[in-house]
Amino acid sequence: MNRKSKVIFESQTVNLVEHGQAIGGGDKIPPFHNLPGKSRILVVLLGRIGDVIFTLPSIIALKQARPDILVDWVVEDRCSDLLVDHPDIERLIIFRRTEFERLYRARKWGLAFGIIRTLIRDVRLHRYQAVLDFQGLLKSGILTGLSRSSLKLGSPSTYGKMKEGSWIFSRQIPLAPSARHLIDRHFLVIRHLLGDIPFNRMFYIRITEEEKKRVRETLDSMGWATPSPQGSPAPFILIHPFASWETRQWPMDRFVSVARHFSRKGFRIGIIGGGGEVQKRLLEPFYLFKEETGAEKTGIKNRVAFFPGIFSLREAGFLMTQSSLVLTDDSGPMHLSAALGARTLGIFGPTDPVRLGPSYGNQCASVHRNLLCQPCMKRRCPIGTLCMEELLPDQVIREAEALLSVPAAGFDRNGIIGSFKTDPDR
Ligand code: SF4
Repeated sequence: MNRKSKVIFESQTVNLVEHGQAIGGGDKIPPFHNLPGKSRILVVLLGRIGDVIFTLPSIIALKQARPDILVDWVVEDRCSDLLVDHPDIERLIIFRRTEFERLYRARKWGLAFGIIRTLIRDVRLHRYQAVLDFQGLLKSGILTGLSRSSLKLGSPSTYGKMKEGSWIFSRQIPLAPSARHLIDRHFLVIRHLLGDIPFNRMFYIRITEEEKKRVRETLDSMGWATPSPQGSPAPFILIHPFASWETRQWPMDRFVSVARHFSRKGFRIGIIGGGGEVQKRLLEPFYLFKEETGAEKTGIKNRVAFFPGIFSLREAGFLMTQSSLVLTDDSGPMHLSAALGARTLGIFGPTDPVRLGPSYGNQCASVHRNLLCQPCMKRRCPIGTLCMEELLPDQVIREAEALLSVPAAGFDRNGIIGSFKTDPDR
């Protein structure tokens, strides 16, 4: 930074300190509307995929209202693919968590803590006009605390309040009853900064031509892009049958029943996921299903394909936009698919579709039982995960068929792929 810009920077900081004192003085935080020109803010949201996807619309709205504001974002490597080269992000600070955990497990303490040292140095590189903690957990709270700013705000987040003591490091924006979905809760923070700016739940990420080409070439090599005996390439449905909590996992044989139904109707079936041994083991019923379809004489090659571990997150996102439908447990890929405008059906059990459901227009929906205990937000169930056990394939097939008649809503302009909310009631 040259001397002149540093002077401007410092004088902006003085204004904010004054305003920051006003903010800290009372119980109610007044709206903070006068962020100076060319302010720099830091977004603290380390992961996971769904959280990044729920936060991006707020940052896109901020940049549309105030293109002069520079946005830095600190994120974990597992989700950084979504933000690399994003047109609205000035500087991406990536926490190399995978490497940190590997070094930590190998007891290479010096190297592991070197990664943390670098992270802290990067977070403290600039003095920010505002630091926004959208995660509301201890780790995001500590990074917010270590950052340099006199204005630190936190989102009311999933549970309506910041957790794990993260509220020590920033002031939580009060939850507004109208903000039921997490996307809207995060936007409360931006509204606090800038006042009533337009918010359309717009979402986009950059997917390069090479990434698209790789997906197209893979489909081509499998015969999925070539015409079927009926004349055009057989449409395909993608299934992501994995979840991070056991209570969110719909039984695998039910997914196979749904796949069998659509396979008989002429759809190809693609399985997507992150890869790894656990997912491989869980997919056993699908390997048997592939053998079953291989024995049927339809003239369509490769009616079932396995993509776990083959594509990056962005490539998988592009693949989703090429499919007829994405059927998925409540998971990060569900949010990505919905946000990119692909037809998406999410299966919900213990989590709350009103707060956390796919919510980018009519082309996405959720399906769940209506048990009195839902949503409990529990990772372990004391009563045998009835919310999943009692959700039968017929109900899911009905919802999936209804969605297939809705137009997909994605847009693709110069490598920018995404969607925006079109239905105000959803
Ligand atoms: S308590 Fe109810 S909602 Fe929660 S996991 Fe068990 S069955 Fe599902």
